[in-house]
Amino acid sequence: MPDPTPLMPALTGSFSSPAGGNPTGAMAEAAYAHHGILGRYVNCDVLPERLADAVRGAVAMGWIGFNLSLPNKQAVIELLDGLAPSAALIGAVNCVQVTNSGLIGHNTDGQGFVQALRVRQDPHGARVVLFGAGGAARAIAVELALAGAASLTIVNRHVERAEEIARIVRDNSRTDAMAVAWDGPFALAADTDVVVNATSIGLAPDVEARVDLVAASILPSMLVCDVIPNPPDTVLLREARAQHAATLDGRSMLVNQAAINVALWLGLDPDRAVMRTALDVAIGDWRHPTS
Ligand code: NDP
Repeated sequence: MPDPTPLMPALTGSFSSPAGGNPTGAMAEAAYAHHGILGRYVNCDVLPERLADAVRGAVAMGWIGFNLSLPNKQAVIELLDGLAPSAALIGAVNCVQVTNSGLIGHNTDGQGFVQALRVRQDPHGARVVLFGAGGAARAIAVELALAGAASLTIVNRHVERAEEIARIVRDNSRTDAMAVAWDGPFALAADTDVVVNATSIGLAPDVEARVDLVAASILPSMLVCDVIPNPPDTVLLREARAQHAATLDGRSMLVNQAAINVALWLGLDPDRAVMRTALDVAIGDWRHPTS
């Protein structure tokens, strides 16, 4: 753990645009306070053309690390001195450690998902159906493969994006990965262990949008997960509960990625319950329009 000069805070933050509404700072500062760390997290609106200046400024000011969100997750890579193996495979960085040997990029999104998943189910040997092939899906697919998932079926409208992820997984792991074009209600195979919605379907304000799958194909033996943080209780998760399946919401992933960031920067394992409470307060409860 860094040993800041007394009364000099450990400085962290985020560079993204638009930056408003990013709840990661609330979670980080709640963890710092809970663990008695004098630390700050500053949410900064930074466009790609000012990213290099922002990174140089952070280093000059002695920041210990920072996050990147849209549109800077790829652009930051050329500014770094090294990449964690999964960040290199994913091709995107959302967390940077400032170390004595330079700036090291990580991708904690997929790791956050897998860490949340592990509380419910061992990903090793799991047969997974993953909806989506954007940034979140790519990070989750890579981490599931590195965690030893047996198979990944990646279902996406634009199937070529799913094919690219499946190829990365096959080339870099023992996981059996295949892409499927999503052109109608998708029926889950009965031996599926884990189902993940990694699309943006269901994100507020479009809270009644549903993942186009055959609800009756969800079985009680499956764990159904959603990446949507707001609202946390999506149509998919409600359909899964109606089928007596277990569920995992998108806020669990968000909390765990933020916890991994704090662990990388400060070398401590922060209290997730404290961070979840801070997240719930920061995002607030989505009120169902008809309730
Ligand atoms: P991208 O824009 O990179 O990808 C969006 C994905 O959603 C694509 O696969 C896209 O399919 C699919 N999609 C969007 N709308 C539809 C639709 N109507 N029908 C079918 N497929 C659709 O976004 P990200 O991957 O960056 O983010 C996805 C979601 O993950 C967001 O809602 C974000 O909030 C959430 N997220 C949650 C995190 C967490 O910690 N909980 C962390 C990161 C992201 P296609 O390729 O065919 O267009």
